[in-house]
Amino acid sequence: MARTDDRQASVSAVEADGTTGRRYARVALDVPIAPCFDYLVPPALDGRIAAGDWVLVPWGRGRKIGIVLGLANTAEIAAEKVRPIMGRVDEAPPSSSAWLELIDFTARYYHRHPGEVMLPAVPKLLRTPPSARQRKESAFARARKRFVAPAGSPSPDMAAAPGLKPAQAEALAALEQGEGFGVFLLHGVTGSGKTEVYLRFIASRLAADPIAQVLVLVPEIALTPQLAERVRARFPGEPIAILHSGLAEGERAASWLAVADGRARILVGTRLAVLAPVPGLAGIIVDEEHDPSYKQQEGVHYSARDLAVLLASQRRIPVVLGSATPSAETWQAARTGRYRLLTLPERASGAPAPRIEVLAIDRDMPPDGLAEAARAAIAEVLADGGQALVFLNRRGYAPVLACGQCGWLSRCDDCSAYRVLHRVAQRRPQAAGGARFRLVCHHCGGEQAVPRGCPACGDTDLRPVGRGTQRLEEALAQTFPEARIARLDRDVARRRGAAEAMLDAVHGGEVDLLVGTQMLAKGHDFQRLRLVVVADPDGALFAADFRAPERLFATLMQVAGRAGRFARDGRVLVQTRFPGEPLFAALQAHDFAGFPDRMLAERREAGLPPFGHQALLRAEAVAPDDALGFLGAARDALLAILAATPELAAHVRCFDPVPMPVARLAGRERAQLLVESGSRPLLHRALSRWLPELDGLAGRSRWQLEVDPSEI
Ligand code: ADP
Ligand code: ZN
Ligand code: ZN
Repeated sequence: MARTDDRQASVSAVEADGTTGRRYARVALDVPIAPCFDYLVPPALDGRIAAGDWVLVPWGRGRKIGIVLGLANTAEIAAEKVRPIMGRVDEAPPSSSAWLELIDFTARYYHRHPGEVMLPAVPKLLRTPPSARQRKESAFARARKRFVAPAGSPSPDMAAAPGLKPAQAEALAALEQGEGFGVFLLHGVTGSGKTEVYLRFIASRLAADPIAQVLVLVPEIALTPQLAERVRARFPGEPIAILHSGLAEGERAASWLAVADGRARILVGTRLAVLAPVPGLAGIIVDEEHDPSYKQQEGVHYSARDLAVLLASQRRIPVVLGSATPSAETWQAARTGRYRLLTLPERASGAPAPRIEVLAIDRDMPPDGLAEAARAAIAEVLADGGQALVFLNRRGYAPVLACGQCGWLSRCDDCSAYRVLHRVAQRRPQAAGGARFRLVCHHCGGEQAVPRGCPACGDTDLRPVGRGTQRLEEALAQTFPEARIARLDRDVARRRGAAEAMLDAVHGGEVDLLVGTQMLAKGHDFQRLRLVVVADPDGALFAADFRAPERLFATLMQVAGRAGRFARDGRVLVQTRFPGEPLFAALQAHDFAGFPDRMLAERREAGLPPFGHQALLRAEAVAPDDALGFLGAARDALLAILAATPELAAHVRCFDPVPMPVARLAGRERAQLLVESGSRPLLHRALSRWLPELDGLAGRSRWQLEVDPSEI
């Protein structure tokens, strides 16, 4: 990602010449209406306020905490309207210029105000104005007290560390030799020993400098404890901070502050951790760099992976991007030498890669969704005391409920989608009536009871169509009555501790057959697992999004990586109605350089990322035509801007507005407009001219712009 050339607001200090005597602070607040807000620096604080300071300011009848972007001698609003700063938050950690620069870049690049980036990046407890009946201790004091560093030696515990394989040693040497900024793609299948390389890299960064800190990004909340555990085992004396959105507010504040203060030297977190201030940052690791969850999907739609690379370049430090299936963007950079490619070609355990077979199946499948060969393979593994996993990336009981008489389908009232049939947990399982079901919309969360009869014709012949993990689990229990079956998906994980309990049972050998979604595919080291059956990957094969095949390939590689990590006879069976798809051939051949190479060739042909750059304007409104109407006007406005500047006209392309794939969501109609360019700076120049016009055109539509959209 490159710097944009059109500058909006700046987060650098404005020189004050001191002639007028009145000093104004430009304060960033988490309010989307303006880049910053002017406040008077009261005499009591004169000379004590600088860029990066946290201040308490009046806002309407209330108060807010904001961060000073700079000082000025003139206000941008009438001087008599300017209100004074109420106080300086002295306990806040000093904002380094590096952090302010990162925020500034992020705000410009994603075309947002600095406050919209900066303040959501600060834990809520710390940016909430202290209440009137102030507790004895401030939120800062409590957070600082809460983070307790472990006692122990700061040097890594190498007792249980394996000796490095040659490829690992070579990768580590390359990482250690690097001077200053460098991006490294650590390319290796699951189990190839990437994490071991990360641990050594952390050790060498920390050993080089007593104030050095390392940032480790993981894609999923569920993966943070696992990786943090391995880091903790290796660095028993090192304070480790964890940051993700699932933490309780108090924990989040404690971790964030420990990192900002430099007390925690290792930070393991999800995408939001990239925006934490890490004053001693000396190295960054982005595990599973291709994972879509690095892209923030609300507020400022930033890519934590891209920001990690930017951050590394700002701080002149190395960043390691690890993956078995790199994103097209990263692969292209590695192919052209911009990133350094480090390959771990084999599994570290010495186990051979699993055998991957493709099973052609029909549309009509038995209730357990298994082809004869898959059923036989499971039976064989179970009889032998091994574990098997059936992977189905669809939660719930069945994707839709249908009337056998008139063809009615369980559509959501508020979305252009079906409500999914879910079996709900019984408070009293022994209660009469057996399983209870509900219809749930996965888009808006809308729920309803299952109707007794068809809402259209009254017939009682309502049937689930298709299969989700709950139904699969039920059918597998019939097929394999002796097997101990456990399921993991987001419905299970929603109950606190349930996912951990399930995984403990798996590791403890109390489970024979696992059923689950994506959640089971990532990061887990299942020692007895010998067989993976991919039940139904076909939906993702023909999705509209151009990134769908890349994602499917990544998911399948990942889930395949679960099989036989420690055994010699790992086996993967992929059931599909389209066995001729090249993606499956690449998977079977373990061709994980050939697949992305072909993908890049296709992208180049079509001018898609990473060869072209995109921005997506999304709009939503209650009335069906409002959003599309607004986007039509927005397109005309952009075309006028392009027409006025030949350079932009030659390089920036604007498509027609179209309804979004799920056109109606929670009762609102949604549409999108794609803008593309082969030149990133020109795209951003066009966007900066265009965006200020949009509010005037929007009418009753709400809009948001996504730079580098991850889904189209
Ligand atoms: P990845 O992160 O690529 O999935 P890991 O680093 O977790 O791989 O390694 C997979 C397994 O192999 C782990 O159990 C790890 O302890 C082990 N391992 C890693 N490196 C080596 C090595 N050099 N020799 C033996 N075992 C290793
Ligand atoms: Zn009907
Ligand atoms: Zn809905």
